[in-house]
Amino acid sequence: MSLVIENVNYVYMSGGPYETHALHDISLTIEDGEFVGLIGHTGSGKSTLVQHLNGLLKPTSGRILVDGLDLSDKATDKRAIRRKVGLVFQYPENQLFEETVEKDIAFGPKNLGLDAAEIDRRVREAMRRVAIDYDAIHDRSVFELSGGQMRRVAIAGVLAMEPQVLVLDEPCAGLDPRGREEILGLIRALHRESGATIVMVSHSMDDVASLAGRVIVMNHGRVAMDGTPREVFARGEELRAIGLDVPQAVELAERLRERGLDIPQGVYQMEELRAAIAAAVGKGKRHA
Ligand code: ADP
Ligand code: MG
Repeated sequence: MSLVIENVNYVYMSGGPYETHALHDISLTIEDGEFVGLIGHTGSGKSTLVQHLNGLLKPTSGRILVDGLDLSDKATDKRAIRRKVGLVFQYPENQLFEETVEKDIAFGPKNLGLDAAEIDRRVREAMRRVAIDYDAIHDRSVFELSGGQMRRVAIAGVLAMEPQVLVLDEPCAGLDPRGREEILGLIRALHRESGATIVMVSHSMDDVASLAGRVIVMNHGRVAMDGTPREVFARGEELRAIGLDVPQAVELAERLRERGLDIPQGVYQMEELRAAIAAAVGKGKRHA
């Protein structure tokens, strides 16, 4: 199921003194099964863009096509789109409200009018995917959980809708390193197992480098770069110029090159860097 963003502009508070042109002529196609990392500094338009993908925001001009259906077309079934494209907001746990974990995760499927057995299956499956033990946790209050668990319950609520496209807006924001690793691990597993298309907003270059097959960089409401992580992270100077970091491995590779070690261009993951260092050191020894 493809997502097509066609010449989209978005203006907040149009005509008023606080008018903000948040998106400028964005055109992108996201193919079925891709894992896209969407990066950019604060205010670059990431959240505004992803809220267009399930019709939550409507473009001021331009169009969004989901599976060939134009979201601005009156004939398009908006509920069907929301079912296909699941959006996990930033700090999604703030929107938990039911008495128990189970009821919260079941809220969406219930609204779809599914029968009790199907709702139960979906709740259990969603909890399995976010690694929360059903028997231990299902009847607990969400407010008794740790921050990381609340985040995972909130993600499970979206997964229970069984979307074909999962959009996550800064899913690791505010978590400690362990919580971050858990969330990244479950997103990776979900992509591998279900083949769902994933769009992950992040400002961590390392998270994006370790997961995404494609990186889209936003700057001031425009797409500044779009390519494989190798292509994008090779443009370290430009990334820094727009206020972004590069992954740790890229930075280390640059420093090692400055010191005369023969590290190939384009290295961006730690594993690769380790191998490149071993190769470079090996070569150095042979030459000596
Ligand atoms: P990001 O997610 O990359 O931080 P946003 O999409 O939130 O960026 O913001 C893009 C621009 O739109 C910023 O200038 C921001 O101040 C503005 N903006 C975001 N949300 C609103 C809103 N609800 N009302 C008015 N302006 C907004
Ligand atoms: Mg944002």
